[in-house]
Amino acid sequence: MYMAPQNALPSNFMPTAEPNPSDPALESLLEQARQVALNSYSPYSRFRVGAALRLNNGAVVTGTNVENVSYGLTICAERSALVSAVSQFGPDIRIEAVAVANLNDAASPPCGACRQMLSEFILPDAPVVFPAADGPRTMPFSAILPFAFEMKLK
Ligand code: ZN
Repeated sequence: MYMAPQNALPSNFMPTAEPNPSDPALESLLEQARQVALNSYSPYSRFRVGAALRLNNGAVVTGTNVENVSYGLTICAERSALVSAVSQFGPDIRIEAVAVANLNDAASPPCGACRQMLSEFILPDAPVVFPAADGPRTMPFSAILPFAFEMKLK
């Protein structure tokens, strides 16, 4: 009999259909993600995405997707924001919250590549707000990437 995998979720985990209304900072982060999506360079897919990262130094860094005619070179909004954050503040930054938005009214949770890249800088309990099929959803990072790749050499 098939048994669904039991992902370990934080004991305080509560999925929400909307950004937590008691966290206006998260709502503001989502608005900044929407704003930066206006800068998207996406002539091939026309899928305009924005991401905003709130860092532990108080800064918010945004990024948008930048496509290329050699499609595989395209960078997502989340990684665009991440490389910008490290470029501006160095490798010791930690991400406290992530917001992702798109202007296409479509679901766009962070892709696997972006989750893996974020995993080296993000706090495990950091909320990630993203457009799901039924609207904005907020989940802790540890729930959207429970088994990040790690390399611990012996
Ligand atoms: Zn991505």
